[in-house]
Amino acid sequence: MRNILIAGNWKMNMTVTEAAAFFKSFRIKKNDKVELLFCPPYVDLPMARFFLENSSIRWGAQNVYPEEKGAFTGEISPAMLKDLGCSYVICGHSERRQILGESDEFVARKVKAVLAVGMVPILCVGETAEERKLGQTEERIGSEIRTALFELSEEDAARLVIAYEPIWAIGSGTAATPADAEDISSFIRKTVKAVAGKKAAEAVRILYGGSVTDENIGDFLKEKDIDGGLVGGASLKAETFLSIYKKACE
Ligand code: PEP
Repeated sequence: MRNILIAGNWKMNMTVTEAAAFFKSFRIKKNDKVELLFCPPYVDLPMARFFLENSSIRWGAQNVYPEEKGAFTGEISPAMLKDLGCSYVICGHSERRQILGESDEFVARKVKAVLAVGMVPILCVGETAEERKLGQTEERIGSEIRTALFELSEEDAARLVIAYEPIWAIGSGTAATPADAEDISSFIRKTVKAVAGKKAAEAVRILYGGSVTDENIGDFLKEKDIDGGLVGGASLKAETFLSIYKKACE
């Protein structure tokens, strides 16, 4: 049985001072079937650890550089994140693919590097509005997944979280319908099965992301292949994010 994961991606929001105030008062009632995760900016991670380490809430990063150490000015290694107590790392968010030009191959290196130090990658995949209109959604997502999983063992692939995030739905206020999100999530699971095997396909957790709110999360979680949500804007409001978590616990 797969646990539900509700992950908040703060993107480039919240100073250390703001993050401290947020985490200080943020508490949840532990639920063994639902995990709650914050992915704040790198600089907020020590604050996340300080305030969350004695709770059931997890923290993780929004990005990583896929090398152990060395002359990579401005970058952060998997070991540095692990040392800060991170459990998860978002890999290949569409904003990084689009704004910073990250390729499928580079994202695949990140996924491998994160697994190598014992953290869990959240691999983001999703189509643009144009690709959707042209009927290229499966081709795009299939290629993103095949490249990321290509060199992974079945055990490593089984540990992955894959976030289906249609790019047109992110930050737009228009989420995919639960039925459409389920169609693609089921395609993702079939692709994982073809690339990495049945056990991996059954174990991989698939999240939906793109304008998730406390009003629509319940409907996404009713779908059989959707195991949680990757939440951007709504994770910045403590009350709304808490309400999303509570809906997931119902
Ligand atoms: C995201 O950035 O991963 C995201 C899903 O954003 P939002 O929830 O704001 O659409």
